[in-house]
Amino acid sequence: MLIDGHGRKVTYLRVSVTERCNFRCQYCMPEKPFSWVPRENLLSFEELFLFIKVGIDEGITKIRITGGEPLLRKDLPSFIKMINDYKSGLDLAITTNGFLLEEVAADLKEAGLKRLNISLDSLKEEVAAKIAQKDVLKKVQRGIDKALEVGLGVKINNVPLKGINDVEVLDILEYAKSKGMSVRYIEYMENSHAKDKLQGMKAEEIKEIIAKKYNFKEIPRESSSPAALFELEDGYRFGIIDPHKHDFCEDCNRIRLTAEGMLIPCLCFEEAMSIKDAVQKGDIKGASEVLKEVLKNKPEKNKWSNDNQNETSNRAFYETGG
Ligand code: SAM
Ligand code: SF4
Repeated sequence: MLIDGHGRKVTYLRVSVTERCNFRCQYCMPEKPFSWVPRENLLSFEELFLFIKVGIDEGITKIRITGGEPLLRKDLPSFIKMINDYKSGLDLAITTNGFLLEEVAADLKEAGLKRLNISLDSLKEEVAAKIAQKDVLKKVQRGIDKALEVGLGVKINNVPLKGINDVEVLDILEYAKSKGMSVRYIEYMENSHAKDKLQGMKAEEIKEIIAKKYNFKEIPRESSSPAALFELEDGYRFGIIDPHKHDFCEDCNRIRLTAEGMLIPCLCFEEAMSIKDAVQKGDIKGASEVLKEVLKNKPEKNKWSNDNQNETSNRAFYETGG
């Protein structure tokens, strides 16, 4: 069992398989050109899998593959199959922008994947293009439809930004509802890579908009999920992720692994340790020791949930996978 320095049980590993992305979302990526980590610095799927096995053997029960854009990595279905075959009953999911999903959804399903989160910030082509800085909407929607068609469970992630897509909170809910998908609204998390002066909607503002049309009540969170959950009268559920809330970190159960092998204890803290040497030598004991050390140093709270509301993370979401 994995327990951190504050007595929290850690069961959830998020694995970023690449920092590269085919979008440039305003809230995630720098506007100016920047250089990617050279490909040879990325861990291979075999190396990532060695660490994942260590994690599973020590008590990880939930794994999310993310990025950057994870579908940019060739052979992702084979990687999913490796993990899925190692332990049945594992809660295994992917977070993707959906752009390349139409082509690969059936292979992912066949590899054993059961569910996906797909980011969808707008249902208007020009707004989606403004946020992603690329014409994306139609292709993402085809990806969503294909995922549903092959039987994958889909949740929609949406980051409502003031003056950009804030008028679409209800449209997104109703689009998702009509297709049997839940929505997670994510409060914008301030970070130094995002476009200047972006302002995210707060959880209360999102709820106010939904309350104008629907009655809903708060229901208990799924175990250790960061999303507050709400249920409409007809049973439809949506969630809001609010990392600024003071109790956001209380039962945090997660750690993050980057594509370069950095093990990160908290999204908004810079401390991290590398597992690269250990996995490249096939050193299972060494990888396990790094894991234990990172857990010992996992902070109690992220910086956004401190009383200082102006905290900004220097860590890029496209590196850590959000
Ligand atoms: N590229 C994939 C995608 O967009 O779904 C996976 C990686 S992305 C970093 C994971 C999630 O983080 C997405 O749902 C995205 O909307 C969210 N995200 C990225 N930057 C964020 C920020 N600054 N604040 C809140 N959510 C953010
Ligand atoms: Fe790429 Fe996802 Fe970041 Fe958008 S949120 S730039 S799709 S990694």
